[in-house]
Parts: sequence; structure tokens; C-alpha cells
Amino acid sequence: METEPYEIVIAGGGLVGGALACGLARAGLRVAVIEPVPAQHTAQPSFDERHTALAPSSRYVLDAWGLWQPARGALTPIRHIHVSEQGGWGFVHLDAEQEGVEALGWLLANRHMGTILGQRLTADERITLISPARVEAVEQGSDCIRVTAATADGERRLSGRLLIAADGADSPTRRLTGLTVHRNDYGQSAVIATVPPTRHHRGWAFERFTRTGPLAMLPIAEGRCAVVWSLPPHQAEAYCDGEESAFLTGLQRAFGYRLGPLRESRQRALYPLVERYAPTPYAGRVLLLGNAAHTLHPVAGQGLNLALRDAATLAELVVTSHAGGGDPGAETLLKAYVRRRSEDLWRTRAFTNTLVRGFAPDHPLLRLARSAGLAALQRCPTVRRVLLRTGAGRVGPLPAAACRPADASREGSA
Ligand SMILES: Cc1cc2nc3c(=O)[nH]c(=O)nc-3n(C[C@H](O)[C@H](O)[C@H](O)COP(=O)(O)OP(=O)(O)OC[C@H]3O[C@@H](n4cnc5c(N)ncnc54)[C@H](O)[C@@H]3O)c2cc1C
Repeated sequence: METEPYEIVIAGGGLVGGALACGLARAGLRVAVIEPVPAQHTAQPSFDERHTALAPSSRYVLDAWGLWQPARGALTPIRHIHVSEQGGWGFVHLDAEQEGVEALGWLLANRHMGTILGQRLTADERITLISPARVEAVEQGSDCIRVTAATADGERRLSGRLLIAADGADSPTRRLTGLTVHRNDYGQSAVIATVPPTRHHRGWAFERFTRTGPLAMLPIAEGRCAVVWSLPPHQAEAYCDGEESAFLTGLQRAFGYRLGPLRESRQRALYPLVERYAPTPYAGRVLLLGNAAHTLHPVAGQGLNLALRDAATLAELVVTSHAGGGDPGAETLLKAYVRRRSEDLWRTRAFTNTLVRGFAPDHPLLRLARSAGLAALQRCPTVRRVLLRTGAGRVGPLPAAACRPADASREGSA
């Protein structure tokens, strides 16, 4: 059987693997993407019914890779963020205009991103999309990696300098390579849904810490809101599978009436929440990326934003090495990647986990202290700006693509 040579092989054509393939191909590299579920398929796990909150860093990365402009018509800007706690009096209000930015973030339907990525992966002649197919075997060589992909028509053999495993939280490639992840069960599951509230959201995103877990109401198209509600698993399951009326009553009780009565919901789904973290994300010429490398609680909407900054850093190193005739799978490059990403990874995990754990204990005195904390934060613009910078993905050494618009003349247009 002939071996097909590529510079980079990516296992997983989801949000992270698919976007990175577009970025690498744009820089002139020949990339193969192995993906078991076609982008337009309803069972595609990455392009499902969720909506993702994209930070400014993701906007810049996607723009540099030619993926922001096609998404423009489907983006909902976040103009305000309101953080509060059920039963508490303090709150924080972040206002894009006051902070001098066009938007604090943008909401995009995963399915819409899937359509864009699906088209690009098939149309770009530097990308070979092998789908439906899955990685079956990986063989490490001294100067290349050999990958066997199982397809409906039999096996295909590929080679590359680097294999990027972006094949999800249960990454089969990670298992094949013998890499491990630390797991920390958050003891919560997220119920997602969309609701058309009776009052238009006007670009407001709400993060409300309830007695049972954090609840986000995020602005999406046509005045609807995307709900991400984290709860103890048995309660989340009951809300997801039970009567719509029970879900709406519970949601209304937890969220209140800021957006008026909630009368209808669509597309309820359940996600068990587990933190995963690979202490060593590479072995030989295999590197873990996206959910395969780390997963986070969705409370701060950081998982994909962090992964896209990882991907942009990797792309920067790989493209520079390739242009200079270097080896994009060399251990020195992978070590440099891990070094450059460690601060952002550490801070983003700490930020997310502090929110989850800090608001968990349901004690009246602690609630009082948290309310006082939120009120103090509201009165302190300097600390608020630090919070905003962290949420926007502007911490630690960042890849150039995550720091500025690809074409500065387009800055200001969403
Ligand atoms: C409820 C919830 C809400 C979230 N909201 C946000 C948010 O607002 N903002 C944010 O930044 N992040 C958010 N996240 C995190 C975000 O969803 C993830 O960071 C993102 O899905 C990571 O994408 P990925 O491509 O790495 O992995 P996945 O989305 O898991 O995709 C993995 C891909 O690999 C493929 N695959 C599986 N097996 C194989 C195989 N054997 N060979 C090859 N390919 C394979 C799959 O088919 C899929 O296409 C949220 C997460 C959850 C659970």
C-alpha cells in the first residue's frame, strides 16, 4: 500500500482540528484531516446545538485564518455582561462602550461554524479531508510519523512530520500514543437549550450563580438566548429529559424575570462536566490539542478560546520552522510550544476553577462576602479591567494572530 506524504496530519476535523487545518493550509502547508463524522451530519459532536462565546482573541485567530468574515452574518455581539448571585445583592456590570471596545465577545452557533469549516476543508486544495475515517494505528519514526486511517473503502496510510490529535475529550489517538490526562469531575452536568424570552436581550449576557450551579443566558440571533445551566447530574438529567414546563419553571426561578416570562425552550441537551488536563501533551511526533489536551467547566466560556490560542501558537511555530527548512515535529519545537502556552493555560484554568469553587458553598455568610466582593468589583474599574482581559484571552505571551486583526483596516467591523 502506498503512503501519502503530508507535512501535518490532524486527527479530528472538529472546531479546533478543522480551524487549525485552515490556518496551516493558508500558510502553504499540505495537511491531511482524518474525521469520522462529516461536518453536516446531525451527529457531528463538535458542530452540535451549542452556541460558543468567542473572545476577541478567537476573533483575531479566526480572522487570520479566513474564518471570521464568512461567520460575520451569524454572530451576535455581547454588549453587556451582568454577573450576579441568586439571593445576593452585589453584581458586576461590564459594558463594551464604557470599556472602549466594540463588543465583549460574540456568540456563534457551533453548527454554523461547522458549515463554514466543512466547506473550507473540502474546497482548499492543500487540505485532504479523509472522512468518514478514523485513526487506527500510529507508528513513530525518527523523522516522520506514519498513520493508518480506517475508511469504508479500506485502510489508507499517511505520513507527516507531526500528528496533531484534536479528536476530542476521549481522544482515541491519545490512547494509541499512551499519553494520559488528569481528570477532575466537577460533579455537575450542563443542560443547554435555547429560549426565546419575552423581552429582547439587547446584547446582554447574564452569568448568574445559583444555589445549584452557574447559569448563563447568552444573547443569540433573533432575540433568543442560549442557556448553559450547570447542575448536580441527577437534576440536570431530570431537566433535560423531563417535561418542558418543569424545565422552564426551574429556569425562571433560578434566573428571575430580567428577560420577562420564559414560555418556550428548544434543543435541550446534556453535557457531563469534567476537567481534563494532560501534564505532558506530546509524545514523539504526536501533540494533543483542544479537548484532547484539556477540558474546562463552561462557566467562563474559555475552552475553545484557550484551544484556539494554543492552535495559533502551534501554527506560528510550525509555519516558521517549515519556512526555514526545519522539522515541525521536532522535540525542541514541541517543548517550545508547551513553554509558551503554560502561563495562559495555568491562568485560564485557575480563573475558571476559582469561579466554579468560589461560588459553590451555599452558606449565608459566604453569600454575603461574595455579594460584597461583586459590589467592590463593580466600583473598581482597574480590577474589572483585569477580569475583562482574562476573559478576553489577553494574558501571558500570546501568538501574534491572537493579538490583532488580520487586516487592521477592518477593525471596528464585526
Ligand atoms: C456545554 C458547553 C459549553 C461550552 N461553551 C463554550 C464557550 O462558550 N466558549 C468556549 O470557548 N468554549 C466553550 N466550550 C468548550 C468547547 O466546546 C470545546 O473547547 C471545543 O468543543 C473543543 O473542540 P475540539 O475540536 O477540540 O473537540 P471536539 O469538539 O470534541 O471535536 C473532536 C472531533 O474529533 C472527532 N473524532 C472523534 N474520534 C475520532 C477519531 N478516532 N479519529 C479522528 N477524529 C475523531 C470528532 O468527530 C470531532 O469532530 C463549551 C463546552 C461545553 C461542554
